[in-house]
Amino acid sequence: MFRFAPSPTGHLHLGHALSASCVWRAAEAAGGRVLLRIEDIDPVRSRPEFAEAIEEDLAWLGFRWEGAPRRQSEHLDDYLRALEQLDRRGLVYRCRLTRSDIAAAVARAEAARGVRWPRDPDGSPRLPVGDATAADAEAPFALRLDMRKALAELAGERLSWPEEGVGPNGERGTVVARPELWGDVVLARKDTPTSYHLAVTVDDALQGVTHVVRGQDLFEATSVHRLLQRLLGLPTPVYRHHPLLIAPDGHKLAKTRGSPSLRSLRAAGWTPHDVLNAAAAGCSEPFRAQEQST
Ligand code: GLU
Repeated sequence: MFRFAPSPTGHLHLGHALSASCVWRAAEAAGGRVLLRIEDIDPVRSRPEFAEAIEEDLAWLGFRWEGAPRRQSEHLDDYLRALEQLDRRGLVYRCRLTRSDIAAAVARAEAARGVRWPRDPDGSPRLPVGDATAADAEAPFALRLDMRKALAELAGERLSWPEEGVGPNGERGTVVARPELWGDVVLARKDTPTSYHLAVTVDDALQGVTHVVRGQDLFEATSVHRLLQRLLGLPTPVYRHHPLLIAPDGHKLAKTRGSPSLRSLRAAGWTPHDVLNAAAAGCSEPFRAQEQST
């Protein structure tokens, strides 16, 4: 079982068309089926009209999925149950620091030590950040995984996953997970009782997903997902990370950089065939080597 899991925070662009082509092609090759999952846990940026547009754009491209899409915002109880499991084992703690608390503490720590404060692979600063002082006890909190305790539960066990695609540094085959590259990742945000890492891990298991096809930008996140699978006793799918489309300015295509949406290309006269052709080459080969994230 395969899935395509966009976030309805904007319109789909060519990068999504590439990802969708990779998903449906891989499913076809394996005789598998595809589910659609709408990852709408961000209460501020997710909008129902984008979710509708996603379905329309995918249908226009000729992609078909099985059953009704799963909307994560309608399944918050599932994530809560997983959180409770981790919480009962003392693996979760409340973090009331705001982004600006963290940024200020990082700036202080960097100025005092003259070295860069360690960051997670997605660029967020590691916690705890030295002298960061939490706001008052009534302030809203996020729930974070206590990475040190989580790694201790593994008692030295090496986690890995089968990779059918390729990581940003050429990783393939059996990839050893490196959750230790991450700090105390957020499992439930202040504004919603889950996070991307938790919801994606729980949903892939609940939906019986056996093959995860997605962009290389999520390659490092797979180490976190693999750890959560182990902690929650969930199966590990096969992963296939595909290279990203690189915009002419050298950055990955992203809606925040104003890359043209599929609907604007369509309005400009592009056919589904044109879109898929433009995206297709990326399924087997990078258009250009992906930049390393810092
Ligand atoms: N929702 C994520 C995105 O749109 C993809 C998540 C995944 O495939 O694991 O980037």
